[in-house]
Amino acid sequence: MQTYKGKSVFSGIAIGRIYVYEKGEQQVRRTKVDDIQKEKDRYRKASETAMEQLKQLYEKALNEVGEENAAVFEVHQMMLEDDDFVESVESIIETQGVNAEYAVAVTGDNFSQMFAAMDDDYMRGRAADVKDISERLITVLSGGVSGGIQSEEPVIVLADDLAPSETVQMDKDKVLSFVTVHGSVNSHTAILARTMGIPALIGTDIPLDESVDGKMAVVDGSKGCIYVEPDQETMEQMQAKKQEEEEQKELLQQLKGRDNVTLDGQKVMLYANIGNIKDLATVIQNDAGGIGLFRSEFIYLESEDFPSEEEQFQIYRKVAETMAGKRVIIRTLDIGADKKCDYFEMEEEENPALGCRAIRICLTRPEIFKTQLRALLRASAYGNIAIMYPMITSLWEIRKIKEIVAEVKHELAAQGIEYGDPLQGVMIETPAAVIISEALAKEVDFFSIGTNDLTQYTLAIDRQNPKLDDFYDSHHPAILEMIRMVAENAHKAGIWAGICGELGADLELTKEFLAMGVDELSVSPGRILPIRKIILETDVSEYRKNR
Ligand code: PEP
Ligand code: MG
Repeated sequence: MQTYKGKSVFSGIAIGRIYVYEKGEQQVRRTKVDDIQKEKDRYRKASETAMEQLKQLYEKALNEVGEENAAVFEVHQMMLEDDDFVESVESIIETQGVNAEYAVAVTGDNFSQMFAAMDDDYMRGRAADVKDISERLITVLSGGVSGGIQSEEPVIVLADDLAPSETVQMDKDKVLSFVTVHGSVNSHTAILARTMGIPALIGTDIPLDESVDGKMAVVDGSKGCIYVEPDQETMEQMQAKKQEEEEQKELLQQLKGRDNVTLDGQKVMLYANIGNIKDLATVIQNDAGGIGLFRSEFIYLESEDFPSEEEQFQIYRKVAETMAGKRVIIRTLDIGADKKCDYFEMEEEENPALGCRAIRICLTRPEIFKTQLRALLRASAYGNIAIMYPMITSLWEIRKIKEIVAEVKHELAAQGIEYGDPLQGVMIETPAAVIISEALAKEVDFFSIGTNDLTQYTLAIDRQNPKLDDFYDSHHPAILEMIRMVAENAHKAGIWAGICGELGADLELTKEFLAMGVDELSVSPGRILPIRKIILETDVSEYRKNR
């Protein structure tokens, strides 16, 4: 048995085989092949499959985003069949006697460099298309979907690090636990693990090779360790612990259906955070009163191109209908920083967390924003949707947003399209928003405090940087004072204030939040019942006296 230590992101026990996850892109190895004809045939066959995929993508895009935007897939089809490209791949296989994956990767690199060096803007833009084509071919050749998990049974996913887009694309039914060598406890990948309610470790000192791949292992999320090939005693202990945790969970189930009200009658809204429509099942299982944060950017991260108005509308409508009248707060896209989408074609930034992210993208690229708003407003006619805007720092931003929303409503009305009138709130996740919260409160229907970013920006600590985890003091008095202040300013203006950052789920602070008058806590679904338990057992006035 080998034991490796990491930092825990979510507790719980996972027992299963390890699956070493390799990123699609850099996994191309150069290997010698004996049968050159066979390798060339393999390449041709992969090319045919890629062609089929591109045709399907073209059709999908044609329906969803129109001919002009779909045209890129026609360009890709032409490139795939381009004589120079095909000749180059075949000649590398032939002259070097190497595998097709390697020949495609080298050709892709050469061609994209050649395009990138051209004077003509259009031709330069083709460099990315060539890369895309070669990656598609390599994925087909390697026999899988890029980023997918090729295993029949659910596994413990072991990776160097995982980007949010990789995590969302994984088939969740196949993941028992995430264990990464790098990563930070406050990263979105960690947040996703919490939403999925599965044990996860980061910063784990484990090798990523065949010495562990496919081996039986146990992840102990509360202790922050993974046992590879556990001995019988450890296995038995872990099985018993798992059983105990499951019994605890069952006990909590008895709290389902109860109101979130303290012993002295203070009511709190207890909502769930989700990133995906697939999370709805756990939201309902855990008896959430609504959805306090739907991170809509995950729809974008899961797509290969901008999701259309119709696609988004269907998703928002489904969430609203499934929640059957309960409130669903959808945050407009928060792309940027660690959540990157290639097709946004954002310029490289020195400090992405301080750069063009979230509402800044929406206000500078209103066509993207308006598509999302149209979908949200239309879906609002089917349920209790509220819209929430991230990364607000100034009053003018919310005023500008309201102007755009009015414009979109006007356009929908002129087109005779049905829409609703959702509440609109802002996230308080910058120190600036806290300081101007009294004025901001007069402009919106609610506040939701994003403590993850608020902590990052207040303590000047990159939430992505694992080396700073020890400095990332989420209980810092500055943060707690800011939360208190936001709640007070919200109440002065007659609106409510909640917390949707990870701190809202911190059981050590639940009583303190109640004492501050926080009206809503939006947390990962698995945290709802444990928080309800504390709420039911708390006398807030007593707590205030003794704190
Ligand atoms: C936050 O910053 O606290 C928040 C909820 O948003 P995200 O974690 O998605 O940045
Ligand atoms: Mg945030």
